[in-house]
Amino acid sequence: MEYNISRGLSVQAVVEYERMVLFGVHTCDLAGIQCLNMVFSRRPKDYNYLIRKNKIDIIGLECNDYCDEFASCNLVNANMPSGGYDLFFTDMGDYFIVHINTQVGDQIIDSTKLFERADRSHLRELVTLREHKRTLFRNEVSVEPREIPELFDKTFESEVWKRLDEKCLACGNCTNVCPTCYCFDVIDEVNLELKGGRKYRKWDSCQLEPFARVAGGENFRKERAARQRHRYYRKFRYPVPIYSRFFCTGCGRCSRTCMAGIRLKDTLNALVEEGITKVWKKWL
Ligand code: SF4
Ligand code: SF4
Repeated sequence: MEYNISRGLSVQAVVEYERMVLFGVHTCDLAGIQCLNMVFSRRPKDYNYLIRKNKIDIIGLECNDYCDEFASCNLVNANMPSGGYDLFFTDMGDYFIVHINTQVGDQIIDSTKLFERADRSHLRELVTLREHKRTLFRNEVSVEPREIPELFDKTFESEVWKRLDEKCLACGNCTNVCPTCYCFDVIDEVNLELKGGRKYRKWDSCQLEPFARVAGGENFRKERAARQRHRYYRKFRYPVPIYSRFFCTGCGRCSRTCMAGIRLKDTLNALVEEGITKVWKKWL
């Protein structure tokens, strides 16, 4: 936003966008976009995001196997398509099956004249492919998704967070690459005559020390353990009652990028282990 007070206050909102197509978006990132759509559609709506989003056509692409050992999309059911695209491509080896999800997608297919209608045999092959996928995508975290919120309720004071405190470098890489992290700071830049300036958003990260610092110097999450815990709760606990979904899509980027070797699946498995121990202790 640009503003000027030299002749009364004039404020000019700036919505920058360009028409574009995102091609080859995998199901984890489709899930990430769905999360952001929900966040920015809540009141007060973020029109800057929504206007830009409406100018983007999305063409999804199915993953027929895990991308690497860091992915955990199966845990959060993001390895199968569940909307959020205009068109969705599945590679069947010799051909692609394309699912049309919106009018925009329909228009793209019509205009290219490259596609023909799938018949029953194609759809049977798609079912076989998806059944095979279920054998490849295993749940490597020893907990059922429906039990995760309760697990987090039990492990707020966990030793796991203290161990992460010792490892984490507080670099913020994990949040910067996460498709569902959306926190930003608002920066005011006043010009030298103090008559105008601009106000803009800049990505922020809950893993950086100043993130929860407030006026007077108090910091609500000074320790890295508290910041790491916050990150995981923002993925697996806090969004559940509001959006009825996890805000982790299992894309694996946070683990892939972490220089300290902090792995999301290891953290969840450590919490499960401690959660189970706690339940046992209660009964001893
Ligand atoms: S990427 Fe790793 S080291 Fe950096 S803030 Fe995230 S968890 Fe900590
Ligand atoms: S928390 Fe990690 S695995 Fe989950 S969506 Fe974010 S970057 Fe991907």
